Amino acid sequence: MFAVIRQNIHYSHSRLYREKQAQKAGGTFVLYWMQQAQRACHNPALDFARQTAAELRLPLHVAFVFSRDIPDAQTAHYRFMLEGIAQTGLDLKRQNIGFHIMVGNMYDCIRSIADQARVLVFDHGYLSWQRAIRDRLYDSAALSRCDVYEIDTEAVVPVHLASSREEYSAATLRRKILAQLSLWLSEKTANSEALPAAGAECTPKSEYSGSLTHSAELWNWVRRQLNMGAETGPAYLIKSGSNHALDTLKDFITHHLQDYATLRNHPNLDIQSCMSPYLHFGQISPIQIIGQICEDCNVPVEATAELIGAKAGLQGTQQSIGAFAEELIIRRELAMNFCYYNPDYESSSSLPDWARKTLNDHLSDPREEEYSLSRLELAESSDIYWNAAQLELMHTGKMHNYMRMYWGKRVLAWCPSVDEAYSILAYLNNKYELDGRDANGWAGIAWCFGKHDRPWASRPIYGMVRYMNAAGLKRKFDMKAYIDKWH
Ligand SMILES: Cc1cc2nc3c(=O)[nH]c(=O)nc-3n(C[C@H](O)[C@H](O)[C@H](O)COP(=O)(O)OP(=O)(O)OC[C@H]3O[C@@H](n4cnc5c(N)ncnc54)[C@H](O)[C@@H]3O)c2cc1C
Repeated sequence: MFAVIRQNIHYSHSRLYREKQAQKAGGTFVLYWMQQAQRACHNPALDFARQTAAELRLPLHVAFVFSRDIPDAQTAHYRFMLEGIAQTGLDLKRQNIGFHIMVGNMYDCIRSIADQARVLVFDHGYLSWQRAIRDRLYDSAALSRCDVYEIDTEAVVPVHLASSREEYSAATLRRKILAQLSLWLSEKTANSEALPAAGAECTPKSEYSGSLTHSAELWNWVRRQLNMGAETGPAYLIKSGSNHALDTLKDFITHHLQDYATLRNHPNLDIQSCMSPYLHFGQISPIQIIGQICEDCNVPVEATAELIGAKAGLQGTQQSIGAFAEELIIRRELAMNFCYYNPDYESSSSLPDWARKTLNDHLSDPREEEYSLSRLELAESSDIYWNAAQLELMHTGKMHNYMRMYWGKRVLAWCPSVDEAYSILAYLNNKYELDGRDANGWAGIAWCFGKHDRPWASRPIYGMVRYMNAAGLKRKFDMKAYIDKWH
C-alpha cells in the first residue's frame, strides 16, 4: 500500500491511495472515473486528474456510471444521485472537461474507455463492493497502456494514513486524527492550469447524449437502460446537488450551529445540519464543510483540532463547532476505519468479544413481543416512539440522529436473535434513509449492539450493551410534539 505523504508535489497527491505505472504508455486523454466523490469542486481526485492532464497537455474526461452494482440502492437513491450528477456534469463541461454518463456494469464501462486513456484516476471507496470493483480495475491486464491512480477524497485524514488498524473506539482514533488534523485541513487546492479542450478522443459506445439541464430526460434514459420500474419511490423533500448542499450548510451555520452542542439531540428541533445525504453521495466534502463553518464564524481552520479536543471551558459557537467537528470528522472517520479494516462490518461478527458474549448469554431471555419485518416497516409496533421514528424516516428519507439510536436499540427486544435484529435494521436503514448504505450506517447499526462502546450494567435481553428506553425520551424531550409531527 502506498502510504507516503508527498507534500511538495500538490495536495491531492498526498491523498494518493495507490498508483501503478503503465507497461507501455499510450492513450490520448486523462480519464477520471467519478464514483464516490460526485462533485465538481473540493474533489482531490478531480484536482489530481486535472493537474495531471495539464502537465501532460492532454484533455480531461470524466465518466460516471449508473449501475445496478450498488447493493440495496432504491429508485429514490438513483433519483437523488442523478439530480446531483447532472449538475456536476454541467459544472465540468463549463470547465472544458469532457463528461460522459454511461449505464451498466461499472468495471466493464470504465475498462471499455480506459484502454484508450493515458492515465486513469479514480476516487477511493471504503465499502467492500466499491473496493472489489476498484481492485479489479487496478489489477486489470487490459489496462496496461495507462497509469492508474486511486485517490482518497472523502475522509479529512485519509483512513489508511490516520491509522494502520481497526480502532477500538472514538477515543483511540481521536488521538491519532487530532495529531495530524491541522495539516489536512489547511491544504490548499492546486491552482488549475488551462486544459486542452476535451473533444472526440473519448467516445464511449453507449452514453447518454441528451441534455443535462432537464434531468427528467436523463432520468427516463437511465430508468429504461437499467430496467427500473415506473414507480419513483417516496418523494423526499431534501433537494439533491452540490449547490443545495451548500445552501443547506449555510442555512445551518446561520440559524442552528450555535445551538448544536446543547440542542442537537432534541428530536423535534431541527438543529442538525442535514449534511449526511450530501456526504453520502459525495456532493460536498467534509473539508469544504469545516472550511465554510470556520470562515463564516471567523475561526481559523487550524483551531478545529483544539475545539474538538477541548474537554471544557468552551461555550456558544466555539463549543458547537467542536461538537460538530467531532461528529463530522472523528465519528464519521471512525465508521470509515471500521468498514475499511473489518471485513465483517455488515454482520454481528464485527462486534467486540464482550458484546457478542453478553448478547449470546441473553439469547434465551423472553422478548417483549415479536414482529415481522413488514409490520415494522409499516410502523406497527406497540412502541409509539419507535413508530413515529419509522414514520419520520418513511416520510422524509432521514430520521433524527437521537431517534435513530433509540430505533436501532429497540429492535433487539422484538427479535429472537441478534442476527435477525441486525438484518432488519440494515434493510430499513439502507432502503429508506437517503444517507443509508454508508460506512456510517454500518457503524451506527453495530453501535446499537455495542461496537465502539463500553459495557454497561447488565439487564435482560441486552446484557451489558447500552440500553435506551421510552422513559428516557419522555424525561428529556417533548415527545408528544414529535409524535404529533409524524403521525
Ligand atoms: C442505527 C443507526 C444508523 C445510522 N445510519 C447512518 C447512515 O446510514 N448514514 C449516515 O450518514 N449516518 C448514519 N448514522 C449516524 C447519524 O445518525 C447520522 O450521520 C446523522 O443523523 C446525520 O444527520 P445530519 O447530517 O443532520 O447530522 P449532524 O448531526 O449535522 O452531523 C454532521 C455529520 O457528522 C456525521 N455524523 C453525525 N453523527 C454521526 C455518527 N453517530 N456516526 C458517524 N457520523 C456521524 C455525519 O456525516 C453527519 O452528516 C446512523 C446512526 C445510527 C444509530
